[in-house]
Amino acid sequence: MSYKNCHSWKFCPGTLSICTGDITRSRADAIVNAANSQLAGGGGVDGAIHHAAGAEALHAACKDIIRERGKLPAGQAVLTPGFALSAKYIIHTVGPVWHGGTQNEDALLASAYWESALIAGQIGCQSVDFPAISCGVYHFPVEHAAEIALKTLKKSLDQGLVKSACMVIFSRDKMNIWLRAGETLFESP
Ligand code: ADP
Repeated sequence: MSYKNCHSWKFCPGTLSICTGDITRSRADAIVNAANSQLAGGGGVDGAIHHAAGAEALHAACKDIIRERGKLPAGQAVLTPGFALSAKYIIHTVGPVWHGGTQNEDALLASAYWESALIAGQIGCQSVDFPAISCGVYHFPVEHAAEIALKTLKKSLDQGLVKSACMVIFSRDKMNIWLRAGETLFESP
């Protein structure tokens, strides 16, 4: 594992972790991408994943999906291969843009995590790594996002969708917020 500062909670039947690191270096079976609804790549974690997976191949796969089903609404998720990544699959989900909490953002964020975990389970992934969906240019308040993300991932472990879920936090200064949320919800690891 190329992540650092990992804190894990072992539940029956799965493990939930929070680590700092770069999700493109994931050793999990699948990683989740915080995509945009056009699956067009872009900046932030999306750009990093496209670059590391091989932009040409991933763009082509994303274009096929959009051609087939149209734009991906917030809260939904789709699957592509991981191409050059160590992770076998990339699950692309669209988080909500934060509008002050007035446009169903909480439910849409929970759905982005849940639908991603559901796909991971359906394709037989044991482990899946998530970035902090919507916490970059979509401006979801991090404390609030952390609570929704961790609660939803715990539920996905409880229901046996995956065995191991990991939040990969890119900026070390945000790590404390995520850990505090984890300790509040699950007590100290
Ligand atoms: P969104 O549009 O959903 O807000 P962003 O890509 O702007 O997505 O940001 C989501 C989160 O991903 C941010 O917290 C950002 O720090 C983080 N991030 C950026 N690059 C990486 C990376 N390589 N690995 C993991 N997380 C990353």
